[in-house]
Amino acid sequence: MSARVAKADYYEVLGVSREASDQELKSAYRKLALKFHPDRNPGNHAAEEQFKKASEAYQVLSDADKRAAYDRYGHAGLGGQGSGFGGGPFAGGVDIGDIFGDLFGEMFNVGGTSQRGTRQQRGDDIRFDLTIDFEAAIFGTETEVRLRRLETCATCSGRGSASGRGPTVCAQCQGRGQIRYQQGFFSVARTCNACGGAGSIIGDPCPACRGAMRVHGELKLNVKVPAGVEDGTRIRYAGEGDAGRSGGPRGDLYIVLSVRAHDFFERTGNDLHCVIPISFPQAALGAEFEIPGIDGPVMLKIPEGTQSSREIHVRGRGVPYLNDKGRGDLIVKVLVQIPKKLSRAQRELVSKLAESLTVENKPASPGLLEKMKDLFN
Ligand SMILES: [Zn+2]
Ligand SMILES: [Zn+2]
Repeated sequence: MSARVAKADYYEVLGVSREASDQELKSAYRKLALKFHPDRNPGNHAAEEQFKKASEAYQVLSDADKRAAYDRYGHAGLGGQGSGFGGGPFAGGVDIGDIFGDLFGEMFNVGGTSQRGTRQQRGDDIRFDLTIDFEAAIFGTETEVRLRRLETCATCSGRGSASGRGPTVCAQCQGRGQIRYQQGFFSVARTCNACGGAGSIIGDPCPACRGAMRVHGELKLNVKVPAGVEDGTRIRYAGEGDAGRSGGPRGDLYIVLSVRAHDFFERTGNDLHCVIPISFPQAALGAEFEIPGIDGPVMLKIPEGTQSSREIHVRGRGVPYLNDKGRGDLIVKVLVQIPKKLSRAQRELVSKLAESLTVENKPASPGLLEKMKDLFN
């Protein structure tokens, strides 16, 4: 390390106020560290400098004693110890595991698992969205789908090289795919640029897959949708995903179902719902007639004195249970229709009915009517 001249203020480096809490310091440092970390900026010396400055500032300010000394005396307050970077083993104060555990997790989980040499690698899972009709979801269906997936290259039998020799271990990184080096108080890794992180090198790439070991192919699959599935149901086909690498197993295939809406029926779980208009006499006297069900006509019985919006359950005419016997119900909501136009004769009949109803059932609570009149006045 060179001599310290005109060191930047630690609070300014982290971009926080002098009153910043530990949590504020930590999140400010995390942001900077993620941005300037050498692994993310290979060969960028300016970024590396920023990273070192931020690390140093955090190392001091996250330690209560050092922060107090720094607040009072500035850089001089830290003497020769602690403020320097790379000065021997790091001793206490900063909860490195806490911060860098997350940090490395974030950096190295991006882009998936590392692909190393001849090591086996499982193929990716595939999601395929399949839209089916309302009835198909209820009674099941069978349909053919075609989807793209990665297949083991037939030309090189998945070895990736034209000669069939397969990849050789990268001499630069000894197959690790990363070069580690010491950066201050912890070691950092950068991707090996000889092999691009693969850990292996193919000297004579296969002309068909260019060394990728896999090529795009098409899968034709007969999908059997069982009766009773719902919108969002996933059907798993184990081992039907992308081909693995270097003899690794295939991933899985998931068919994700979305179900089209129906003009007449709605579904909640295993019950079907629909709305049927009925006439005033049917509601008053009761009736029995056929309505369309999801699988053929259904006899609907309207009991005497049915009120509008009443729901009538027809047992066992709903959706079959998935993997079980039996079906849910068909739930019919009846809406009593009031005729908008009456002939003179009909009008007389209804008037007579009205008179007879007033005689027989006096209004239940005349007080209520009075109250309503008051409301509207
Ligand atoms: Zn390498
Ligand atoms: Zn090939």
